[in-house]
Amino acid sequence: MPAHTKHFLSLTLFLAFLVSCRHDKPVDLNFKTEKVVILVIDGPRYSETYGDPTHQYIPHLANDLAPQGVVSESFRNNGPTYTTAGHTAITTGFYQEINNAGAELPLNPSLFQYYLMNSGKDSTAAWIIASKDKLEILGNTAHADWENRYLPATDCGLNGAGVGSGYRHDSLTYIRTTEILSTYHPNLVLINFREPDYSGHQNNWTNYLQGIIDTDTYAWKLWNFLQADPYYTGTTSLFITNDHGRHLDGVSSGFSGHGDDCEGCRHINFFAAGPDFKQNFVSTTQHELTDIPATIAYMFEFRMATADGEIMHDLFK
Ligand SMILES: [Zn+2]
Ligand SMILES: [Zn+2]
Repeated sequence: MPAHTKHFLSLTLFLAFLVSCRHDKPVDLNFKTEKVVILVIDGPRYSETYGDPTHQYIPHLANDLAPQGVVSESFRNNGPTYTTAGHTAITTGFYQEINNAGAELPLNPSLFQYYLMNSGKDSTAAWIIASKDKLEILGNTAHADWENRYLPATDCGLNGAGVGSGYRHDSLTYIRTTEILSTYHPNLVLINFREPDYSGHQNNWTNYLQGIIDTDTYAWKLWNFLQADPYYTGTTSLFITNDHGRHLDGVSSGFSGHGDDCEGCRHINFFAAGPDFKQNFVSTTQHELTDIPATIAYMFEFRMATADGEIMHDLFK
C-alpha cells in the first residue's frame, strides 16, 4: 500500500475516533458537580432580602455566600405564586395550578424521579425534606408513566410523617437535614423552610423579619456543613431560592399575603454555588423557577422530556 494511502486511512480512522469520542462525551458537559442541594426559603419579599441594598436581614447570603457563587437579580416565579405550585415548578420544570393543601400530585414527574431512573440508585439517594407536611406530594406524580415509580425518600412535616401531620419548626428541619445527609449521603436533596411565609401570614412584621434572618443563618450553616463533609465538599452545588414572594405594600393585604401576579409575588431570590459556577458573579439575565430543574438535569447529563425551562448557561464558569 502506498504511503500516502496509509496516511489517508489512518487520518480517516483518527477523525472517526474523534467524532465517536465527541458523541459519547460532549466536552462542554464535563461538570465536577455530583451532588445537588436545593434550599427553598418559603415566601420572603425581594424588598426585605436581596432587593434591600443594606442586606440587613440576609447578612450571610449577601456577605458570606454571594462572593462564593452566583446571585441572580432577575429571577421570577412566572406561574402560580403559592407554596405547592412554586415548589412543583422547581421539581417538575412545569407551572401548574395545584391544590395547595397537599391533596393533589404534580402532573409531571420530578427531577428526583428522573435522577433515580437515570442513576439506577435506590430511593435514599434523593430526598425531600420539608417543614411543611404538604410538600410530601413533590415526591410523586399523577403522570401515568411515572406514578409510584423511582420515588425519592421524604421527611416532611411533624416527625417527617408527611401530608396531614402539620408544620414542623425550621430548627427541627435543619437538624433532620444534617442527620439525613450524614446517614444516607444523598446526591439530590430539596429542603423547604416554612419561614418567613409562616410568620408573614400571621401579619407579624417582627417575626417575619426574624424568619428571614433565621433562614439566612440556616443557609450559611448548611453551606458550611457541606464544605466540612468529605462526601460533599468540592463535588456539591447548592441552590437557594424561594417558591414565591409576597404582595407589595398597597397590593391586597400587603406583606401578609401572596398569590397574584404583582411584582412582589413574582420577583424572588436565586443563588447558586459549587465547583462549576462562577464566583462573585451577579446575573442580570431573566431566569425563572422552571430553569432550576433544566439546569440541574443538564449538570447531571440527563433530559427531562416533560419539563419546560431553560438551562442557565450564564451561571457556569
Ligand atoms: Zn404562604
Ligand atoms: Zn402579590
